[in-house]
Amino acid sequence: MGEFDVITRYFSSLGSGEFVDLSVGDDGAALTVPPNSELIVSTDSSVLDTHFTDDLFPEDLGYKAVASAASDLAAMGADPLGMTLALTMPTVDDLWLHGLSQGLARACHEYRLPLVGGDTTRGPLSLTLTVMGFCPPHQKLLRTGANVGDRVCVSGYLGDAAFGLQVMQGKYRGLEIDFDDQDYLVSRFTHPTARLDLGCRIRTLASSCIDLSDGLLRDAAHVANASGVRLAIQSAAIPLSSALIAAVGKEQALQFALNGGEDYELLFTLPPDVDVPSEVTVIGVVDEGMGVHCDVTARSQGYEHFH
Ligand code: ADP
Ligand code: MG
Repeated sequence: MGEFDVITRYFSSLGSGEFVDLSVGDDGAALTVPPNSELIVSTDSSVLDTHFTDDLFPEDLGYKAVASAASDLAAMGADPLGMTLALTMPTVDDLWLHGLSQGLARACHEYRLPLVGGDTTRGPLSLTLTVMGFCPPHQKLLRTGANVGDRVCVSGYLGDAAFGLQVMQGKYRGLEIDFDDQDYLVSRFTHPTARLDLGCRIRTLASSCIDLSDGLLRDAAHVANASGVRLAIQSAAIPLSSALIAAVGKEQALQFALNGGEDYELLFTLPPDVDVPSEVTVIGVVDEGMGVHCDVTARSQGYEHFH
């Protein structure tokens, strides 16, 4: 099967959407950016053996690549427009491509990100997704803008994905974990949730925002540095799932939350006069100073791909 057949068979049916005028098939795609808004663009690569290993199901790889890219749009407060995929693979493996396209399709519907184009080449396995969204010019959320007196908020539960990865890797074989809990924890790694709706809802409320891809401490430090403030985080307030606490206990769960990566939750700062959205937890405050302060010492410095 040639490149063209791969495209028509697996990637050409995911391309329609509200803002799509021209999709897969021509030299370029055409999207309508609604009036009075800016185009928000972000690119993420997933490379075999750097970001994922070959035991990850292609469905999960496809879903996760979209969710993690969409998470950057969420962190900007953008509404989704569409995405392109640059796919490099060593051989044309039908079963694998079928799985990949299933995962892409699921995420593409869930996040309203039609696949409007891309490139398909031969080489070491990697996926590069470029996601596009839009936002009124003065409402986009940045890492800068946190002010002294703001509250620090996060969505969801932290640490589940990092622990889920270790479970998948067989590092906790001796541990007895409830079957449903294990399923849930692994799925937080394989199927993270991009908080696009939350991002849009807080774009007129929050003073700064970032998505948590590299661990709470590390990502909170980006906001602190960009905004020129100190983020003081109370460890007791950090939201931990009952599944994670049941599996490893509170203390270890907290270490996963502080240092683990790939939660793809949103961390944002809210001015004191703004109501906290219901599904969100306040974990600290913005102070004068710099960096991140947390009352628990972190054991390691989080998660990075370049060691
Ligand atoms: P060109 O040579 O003009 O770049 P291609 O043959 O690379 O065209 O691609 C043909 C069409 O298929 C284009 O519209 C391109 O955007 C789309 N396409 C190629 N690869 C992918 C992919 N992996 N996912 C989605 N669309 C793709
Ligand atoms: Mg091309």
